[in-house]
Amino acid sequence: MVVGDISTGTELLVIGGGPGGYVAAIRGGQLGLDVTLVEAEAYGGTCLNEGCIPSKAFIHVSDLAHEVENAEPMGLYARADVDMQGLVGWKDGVVSQLTDGVEKLSKANGVNLIEGRAEFVDDRTARVVHGGEGQGSESIEFEHAVIATGSRPVELPGFEFDGDRVLSSADALSLESLPESLLVVGGGYIGMELSTAFAKLGSDVTVVEILDDVLPGYDEEITRLVRDRAEELGIDFRFGEAAQGWQTADDAARVTTETEDGTVHEYDAERVLVAVGRQPASDTCSVESADLKPNDDGVIETDDSTRTPVEHIHAVGDVAGEPMLAHKAYREGRVAAEVIAGEPSRLDQQAIPAAVFTDPEIGSVGLNAEEAEAEGFDPVVGEMPMHASGRALTLGAEDGFVRIIADAETEFVLGARIVAPDASELIAEVGLAIEMGAQLADIAATVHTHPTLSEAVAEAAANARGSAIHTLNR
Ligand code: FAD
Ligand code: NAD
Repeated sequence: MVVGDISTGTELLVIGGGPGGYVAAIRGGQLGLDVTLVEAEAYGGTCLNEGCIPSKAFIHVSDLAHEVENAEPMGLYARADVDMQGLVGWKDGVVSQLTDGVEKLSKANGVNLIEGRAEFVDDRTARVVHGGEGQGSESIEFEHAVIATGSRPVELPGFEFDGDRVLSSADALSLESLPESLLVVGGGYIGMELSTAFAKLGSDVTVVEILDDVLPGYDEEITRLVRDRAEELGIDFRFGEAAQGWQTADDAARVTTETEDGTVHEYDAERVLVAVGRQPASDTCSVESADLKPNDDGVIETDDSTRTPVEHIHAVGDVAGEPMLAHKAYREGRVAAEVIAGEPSRLDQQAIPAAVFTDPEIGSVGLNAEEAEAEGFDPVVGEMPMHASGRALTLGAEDGFVRIIADAETEFVLGARIVAPDASELIAEVGLAIEMGAQLADIAATVHTHPTLSEAVAEAAANARGSAIHTLNR
């Protein structure tokens, strides 16, 4: 113990107050554990402060502005003037409401909150350096710990974030003025969501992507729809180019890229957003002092009870590896607390959904047909195009489809790919079907409200059985 430290003890120490950490803490409190949660920056972590929530607030406003300005075919003539400070102020209000909620819910569940940076001293003790100068530190002895320190954006060499010309996603979501031109490095989740939003607000957007398509991991039929729409919005894609560096030129950033054959290109833009992935933040709390060693990717490896090789220390969320999604962190946080409290809890879900909030949105859960085949199934695929959905037409959004994959023999639902308005919501029905071991007939026979987008899910299930009404059966 350092001289001047105060010393306390806790049954469960949670390091990091993002979706993984605060869920572990609240669930631990509910189960009667004496819990201490230490957060270095802001309750709610990346997700609430600079990730999921701010980006979706931003995307919503851009959708509104774009829709209203493009509604002439529906007989609506309007102009949307974007006030970035108003937009960012509203977004910050949404964030505050949610982060305050995390703090209040934690306290209401008996969680002891400490603001500061926690570091392991050994595998039973942590030291917390309190935020702010002269705030001191304390030593905490714990029986169990949950590491939930999250992730940070990968910094591309030559593109160090300066919050001015070279922006991280967090910087881009807090700009005071709309950039006239924006160059986005990386056409993944963040690149596609934010380039779409900035293009809708009126920025001139170029996306430089090292691969030959956007959204690695998604089927070409899906990415094509999103890419085509993005191009309609004016986004210029430069595929097969790696961003190399930048310099100031004519009051802009002049970005240099290079193709595989060595051809060099240059692009000028007022701002550059770099979104080339995120890396686990496993170096913020001296895990080696607790006998833990992250793998070569910086991930703290865990088993299906979220335990690390040091049995009484768990890791959850982004620091525990892919997929780096908030709902995966939530689930792991819950399981960690339940296992520590002695409950028979495991990470035993069949499928973790994913959604991309582009235009149209993408929702994905479980297996696609190729993956199902590779796993030994004989897949049957049912599809409902959105242009056959009455509700999609009333929204003026007819691009996309709902595709359901099932096992031909048993008709058990194996997965779905949805490209549609609100695909992020629609995918939940198929996730539930997979978790419940439902068959195609269960979805097809469920009466869905009319007119809704969810009817397309039922029609896709019926289509797989040759009994769809609103689309031709194969
Ligand atoms: P984090 O949310 O990163 O929280 C970790 C916390 O630990 C931080 O608050 C940090 O300050 C704290 N911390 C770190 N070290 C210490 C220490 N030593 N002591 C004390 N505290 C410490 N996911 C989705 O599912 N859907 C989305 O739509 C989505 N959109 C996103 C948009 C953007 C722009 C970004 C960047 C991410 C998005 N994500 C989305 C991913 C999501 O934000 C993460 O998966 C999620 O936040 C992970 O939660 P976590 O608890 O593991 O870590
Ligand atoms: P990403 O991994 O999704 O995409 C990074 C992209 O950058 C890839 O397409 C990659 O090929 C490209 N790239 C890498 N190096 C490059 C270079 N030198 N030049 C040009 N392109 C290059 O990463 P991200 O977009 O930064 O997002 C990080 C993570 O955050 C995601 O993987 C996801 O886990 C999470 N996230 C989720 C959501 C959501 O759930 N809707 C939204 C945003 C972020």
